Amino acid sequence: MKNLLFTNVKLYDGTGRTPFLADVAVKDDKIAAVGNNGDLPETGATVINGHGLALTPGFVDVHTHSDSSAATVSGGDSTISQGVTTDISGNCGFSWYLDGVQKNEALKKLHGNFAAYADWVEKSSPALNVAHLCGHNSLRVKVMGYENRHATREELRQMKELLADALAQGAAGFSAGLFYLPGNFAPTEELKELAALLKGTSKPYATHIRCETEKLCESLTEAIDIAKAGNSNLELSHLKTSGSSNWHKLDSVFEIIENAQRSGVNILADRYPYIHSATTLRVLLSAPYSEIDTTTLCSKLKESAEFQKEVTESLKKYVPRPLERTLLMNSPIPEHRQYYGMSMVEIGQAAGCSPEEAVVKLLSSGVSPNAAFGTMCEENLKRILAKPYVISGSDGNVRSFDDNGTHPRAFGTMPKFFRLAAQSSNYESVIRRMTAMPAAKFNLTGRGIIAPGYFADLVLLDLEKFDSPADYAVPNLKASGVDSVYVNGKLAYSADCGLQTARSGRMLRIK
Ligand SMILES: [Zn+2]
Repeated sequence: MKNLLFTNVKLYDGTGRTPFLADVAVKDDKIAAVGNNGDLPETGATVINGHGLALTPGFVDVHTHSDSSAATVSGGDSTISQGVTTDISGNCGFSWYLDGVQKNEALKKLHGNFAAYADWVEKSSPALNVAHLCGHNSLRVKVMGYENRHATREELRQMKELLADALAQGAAGFSAGLFYLPGNFAPTEELKELAALLKGTSKPYATHIRCETEKLCESLTEAIDIAKAGNSNLELSHLKTSGSSNWHKLDSVFEIIENAQRSGVNILADRYPYIHSATTLRVLLSAPYSEIDTTTLCSKLKESAEFQKEVTESLKKYVPRPLERTLLMNSPIPEHRQYYGMSMVEIGQAAGCSPEEAVVKLLSSGVSPNAAFGTMCEENLKRILAKPYVISGSDGNVRSFDDNGTHPRAFGTMPKFFRLAAQSSNYESVIRRMTAMPAAKFNLTGRGIIAPGYFADLVLLDLEKFDSPADYAVPNLKASGVDSVYVNGKLAYSADCGLQTARSGRMLRIK
């Protein structure tokens, strides 16, 4: 392997220290030396003159759902092109290897087996580094399906056994999504018993809290209590105040987090830099419909006009999110494509029905498509991104450049996070929140900093031009300002030549 010498780069090394004009030498997959510009000998290396561009560690996306796509989207398109070199999947309590993979005949052997899943990712030669959290919703599905009840002692024992196995085989932590089925059926005690398995490790409990709206503060307190039952290492997923009636709660949110930090709980939060969330359309439904699993719900809707009417009536009485700001994003149903980027009101107009009927029509296709929900506010987003404990996470997953049905965060989280956070902090501290801090939180040993001995995950970029043109109508647009991206010492992407075929990412089994 040829070695590399970056010269004349403005080095942001990830630690937050003041950048300086530097040379960086790479030998094989690691950083060999860092010196002042002009100090390092060329000794046969390929020289890359940075012409004063910034060199940063590869960005870490701590919040993804790339369980399978990090392995199957071979170029890592959406992610690599914005400078992400490590992707942490298995968030919000969902682990595909536990409850999704069995739908795929060829991959059935991965079902419930973390070691086999990790081997499969590794053999796929991913474009970027991949770490994975073990998810609570999926543990519950595997052991007790979608039953709305407490787990028995035996079921809890089985969940613990699966989680302990995943942690021993290299899972980066334990995730939960208590907002979702079937995690929402679980009492706090169940989570505490599972989180207790994190004791003796430095792995975090990462959680999409039970409620981000009316019970926001109570849910944060619950998350902190659960973390305390483990090793007091907490990652709050996509920190937000959702719904206009909850926007005023942000001061209380900060107070709860910062009080817990002062009392010794190690808390970081991640946040995607957009005010639309994205999830499955069916979250618009209330009880009792919200308690039916998706397959049963959508097939019943498909079969019964009577049931469609009933659900439409319930939506007309109450809908938790504004339909004029609920946009269809993607769906496996080809006929839905014509509505991508449109609100439920606009879809209703196009289809000649009410917005509520439009929702039911979409769900009656037999699946629940993904939608974006405009429930947050710009002012709070900026205040959240100004906090020194908020790190970079997209809540997206690896997407191909051809994929035009997704949330723009899949393509634009890193540049947008950088731009918004840099309004209130200096560049070096924002870069630290995208590199060294997330790497330390998830125990990505040897990553997140540019220093001798660290892995050569690197981004050469123009920070002034680093931005994203992606939006809801056209999400699959590349970030601007990125010159080139290296993963474990190999070129993975360059603005001139596009994606490379090196596929030098690794499955990171976390100790
Ligand atoms: Zn989530």
